[in-house]
Amino acid sequence: MTRKCWLLMLCLFTAFATGCLSPDHPGANSPPPGGTYFLTDGFDFPVGDPDGRGWAVTGYDFLEWSGYSNSYHPGEDWNIPGAGNGDWGETVYAVANGEVVFSGWNTALGNVVLIKHALSPTDFVWSQYAHLEERWVDRGERVYRRQPIGTVGRGPNNTFAAHLHFEIRKADLPANAWPRTGGVAWSRSKVTDFWLHPSVFIKHNRPQ
Ligand SMILES: [Zn+2]
Repeated sequence: MTRKCWLLMLCLFTAFATGCLSPDHPGANSPPPGGTYFLTDGFDFPVGDPDGRGWAVTGYDFLEWSGYSNSYHPGEDWNIPGAGNGDWGETVYAVANGEVVFSGWNTALGNVVLIKHALSPTDFVWSQYAHLEERWVDRGERVYRRQPIGTVGRGPNNTFAAHLHFEIRKADLPANAWPRTGGVAWSRSKVTDFWLHPSVFIKHNRPQ
């Protein structure tokens, strides 16, 4: 093989390799192309079909007083009505396009996934999925609306009857944030400074 041939092959290889590594290559962990934000195109429900059919909030509702946690509940507890633990292991879906900012375990909530969603380049909300049995996404991963991200579980050491604890946040809070300071519950109005009513928010932001 001539020297010219070798150079040509080297060029082709370099072009191929850099092409594969470029940010434009669609991959779960690559940044949004052209530096634009990965915007949402609407929100679906996190369990059941995109409308949440077959499921309901039968556990603690948003802002319901929880004696168990001595606080106003900052999210919704989703179940298949009457199923008991029959919803254990059911699929949980990302409610919208976004980026996983936490996927891990904490002692209060068990397995948690937290996703950041860009409504516009400057306007964000976060969805949080807790008590999961399994987590199928990692921090830094880009996820799409309706992407399966894990399964319904029973919380740390199977403490609870199987359900999805689901939150929509309007603030960048740690995954284990809870509306309580030093054991004292925050007021309902303070909770709504940081959390949104999940079902109301989703119903107002369905895909077109
Ligand atoms: Zn809950």
